[in-house]
Amino acid sequence: MKISADAALVPDASFVPTSHRGLTYPFGHVGPEPQQTMQVAEGLHWVRLVVPGPLRHINCWLIDDEDATGPGAALVDTGMNLAPTRDDWKALFRGGALDGVRLTRVIGTHMHPDHIGLAGWMCDHHGCPLEMTRGEWLTARMLAADARDAVPHEMISFWRGAGWDAEAIERGKARGWSGFRRIITPLPLGYRRLVDGQVLMIGGRRWQIVTGNGHSPEHACLLDAERGILISGDQLLPRISSNISLGVTEPEGDPLGDWLDSLAKLKQLPADLTVLPSHGDVFTGLHVRLDALDREHRDRLDELEVFIGEAPRRSVDCFGRLFRRAIGPELLGMATGESLAHLRRLEVEGRAVKDVVDGVWWYRKAG
Ligand SMILES: [Zn+2]
Repeated sequence: MKISADAALVPDASFVPTSHRGLTYPFGHVGPEPQQTMQVAEGLHWVRLVVPGPLRHINCWLIDDEDATGPGAALVDTGMNLAPTRDDWKALFRGGALDGVRLTRVIGTHMHPDHIGLAGWMCDHHGCPLEMTRGEWLTARMLAADARDAVPHEMISFWRGAGWDAEAIERGKARGWSGFRRIITPLPLGYRRLVDGQVLMIGGRRWQIVTGNGHSPEHACLLDAERGILISGDQLLPRISSNISLGVTEPEGDPLGDWLDSLAKLKQLPADLTVLPSHGDVFTGLHVRLDALDREHRDRLDELEVFIGEAPRRSVDCFGRLFRRAIGPELLGMATGESLAHLRRLEVEGRAVKDVVDGVWWYRKAG
């Protein structure tokens, strides 16, 4: 796999611009060096791994843990299944900062390949279980099991509906199918289910599962309420807005509505938590960040409503309004998903009507 060309394989970052004013960074903009760990709190360590594209890194977390066989560590997220990432882990575990450390469990916040790309490899190597929510687990297993080669006709209809031209559709067909299966190591056949509100005892400390939706089916965050620490995964990021996409698997879904609901749910958590995100720096200012994301997405919806009030638009027509940056062919799929998520939200709110003309979806202002 070429690292540089595969940014589209990491569906985490939105193209929607966002403000990060008002946040503070307890560690500044410093993180662990490659193949090093950095202590965030007692018994809690940070590892940073390279991912392709503008995100550059994913943050993984090691929590001191123990099981029947003795002390070890729980790993939250694994990085991608890329040779450099596997080399980083090998260096850490063999003679590095994690020399002799045994993993007691791997916790996957959600099913994106930068988070669980090496989950199967890690669980195999350490003989430990994988813990995920059922929504994430089933989605990952479903995508990994979908082994056909040709792009299914539903996908092509979806692209056509979104307004892709013949050239873009041909490019999509040429990329083939089953990409997910090829970019993660095989997942174990069984898993331990994580449930919203559940409390995990990890190394004698209580970590509560807080689920969210919109970015992925049933994303798990981990809250240490006693120490005020939230491992937020991709549900909440400091600098970028998480990618919220409408996709072919649930074309009548409302991921942006789900996402906005999750922002409100997270706002019930204390404002002074230290937030450990999957991408970017550790930060404080939880409520400030949640308010900014909520406001920005709603502003974007308002702008889009005006735009489709001028004339009916397709998903691809809305990129300029939503993203304020050029969308090249390699980003077309993700941009389409995000644009459709916003248009679908307007439709659910009764502010837009979708007309289908020759298989193409045109959105106009309601009323
Ligand atoms: Zn993600």
